[in-house]
Amino acid sequence: MRVSQLYAPTLRETPAEAEVVSHQLMLRAGMIRKAAGGIYTYMPLALRVLRKIETIVRQEMDGKGGQELLMPIIQPAEMWQETGRWDVYGDEMFRLKDRHNRNFCLGPTHEEMITTLVRSDVRSYRQLPLKLYQIQNKYRDERRPRFGLMRGREFIMKDLYSFDKDEEGLTNSYDQMYDAYSNIFSRCGLTFRAVEADGGAIGGSKTHEFMVIADSGEAAIVYCPSCNYAANVEKAELKPIVMPEEELQSLTITDTPGTKSIESVTALLGISADKTIKTLVYNTDKGVVMALVRGDHEVNEIKLQNIVDCLTIELADEKTIVEDLGSTPGFIGPVGIKCPIIVADPTVMNLYNGVCGANTPNQHYRNVNAKRDFSPTIVTDIRLIQENDPCPHCDVAVKTARGIEVGQVFKLHTKYSEALKATYLDENGREKPMVMGCYGIGVSRTMAATIEQNNDEYGIVWPVAIAPYHVVIVPISPKDEAQMSLSNKIYQDLNASGVEAVFDDRNERPGVKFKDADLIGYPLKVTVGPKTINENLIEVKVRRTGEVFYFDVNNYLNEIKDLLARL
Ligand code: ATP
Ligand code: MG
Repeated sequence: MRVSQLYAPTLRETPAEAEVVSHQLMLRAGMIRKAAGGIYTYMPLALRVLRKIETIVRQEMDGKGGQELLMPIIQPAEMWQETGRWDVYGDEMFRLKDRHNRNFCLGPTHEEMITTLVRSDVRSYRQLPLKLYQIQNKYRDERRPRFGLMRGREFIMKDLYSFDKDEEGLTNSYDQMYDAYSNIFSRCGLTFRAVEADGGAIGGSKTHEFMVIADSGEAAIVYCPSCNYAANVEKAELKPIVMPEEELQSLTITDTPGTKSIESVTALLGISADKTIKTLVYNTDKGVVMALVRGDHEVNEIKLQNIVDCLTIELADEKTIVEDLGSTPGFIGPVGIKCPIIVADPTVMNLYNGVCGANTPNQHYRNVNAKRDFSPTIVTDIRLIQENDPCPHCDVAVKTARGIEVGQVFKLHTKYSEALKATYLDENGREKPMVMGCYGIGVSRTMAATIEQNNDEYGIVWPVAIAPYHVVIVPISPKDEAQMSLSNKIYQDLNASGVEAVFDDRNERPGVKFKDADLIGYPLKVTVGPKTINENLIEVKVRRTGEVFYFDVNNYLNEIKDLLARL
């Protein structure tokens, strides 16, 4: 490709709307353009990167026995009604009607579609296991589309679905996919971690997320520096903290004017936060829920949601607190309150002579002892893990990091096959539900995550495996015939030998071309200048390290290939 022809309009300024570096750099490098919130055109450079990621994905999926197919994006409502997800999916689903007023959606995922397909064609154990996958656009009307391709409303996903005879088969498929995912993200040149995760709306039990480690990541993860435990904080389990035993004092009320926060009440009473009970009230589709954790802890809303088994959960407004609970915002507590569901963390139950709101303005209870003074509906772990909490496996203090979820593997078991009656006949002629797994990779998100992890002040630094091109050739003086024709020859020769090269043949100053080359992030830059003409040397600069090499203009192909192989 000649840069004079390349459709990659670069921008000097950073667009104001772009908050994260991948979004900024993709706009600046002329890789993407926005059509609407969370909906983008992939320009030629971006599409080349996407195709390379897809090629790696296909090779690894095929390597594990996956077969590629392509299902419709437009899905009829009926199959979603069969599993009950038509109602559950909520506003995230893009819905539409045809001219006959029939309901459809734009596929946010394809469990219903694939299970319906397979149930009509697979009858016997002899046809299993099956691994079917596709790479296509998915549609989710995200509440907060943002960060460019990171959280789009239209995005590219690879989704594979496994169908096995039994749990053993599923475990096998799951492990194969886990392995393939590790290969894919390694081959893309990413630093990542597989973490234990929560099943979310797709359901199922065992699941891992593949996280690209980056400060801009929306997910918080914990990992143990000692054993190999790693989890999304949403999932991380915690053992109760046992506090030193104290004699139970009698419950008293104390005036605490204006102390609506844990900080202010502890300051006033001269106690530490681990002596207080934090009470949060939520509105859910299962009613009002009160959640109790120790004052220095946070509620893990995902754990809470799973325990209450509710679809929606949000912090209650003042009206709920006053009218439904008869309490006072800022002074809520579990003693003497009537709430249909009270969930307490076990550490709260182990607290002696604590402090909590007294449900009246400007007053708190002292010497609260959970086992004596109130009775939660449920006592279970609802605490959000924090840095330095003990590792659930080995008790060493955990560390935290931010991650971008680029892929997830789920064991679905028979959730969908039972709902959609996808059964087969086993060796003994007995009808059984197929045992399923599903495995997604955000292809477009992976491209963005790669940039989050591989950039510097000048632009993108592509890993060779997924770079849009490997080499850019820049003649210093476009008016110099000798430089131009030599550059053209190098360009032809590199491409002929399988190295993907672009030739910056534009009539621009070298500074402009170098800036664009760094912004777009080609792994190698070949400069053709006076030194090339006079001394037969081309200058080759490595984008990632800044190293400079001089190669003989008549003998550089293998050197360039070796260099690329080492990056
Ligand atoms: P998230 O928690 O980030 O919303 P998810 O758990 O809903 O993601 P999955 O249903 O597991 O996502 O989808 C598989 C993969 O698709 C994810 O691992 C992610 O890489 C990608 N993905 C999901 N939602 C988006 C989106 N809105 N934009 C881009 N990629 C996405
Ligand atoms: Mg997920």
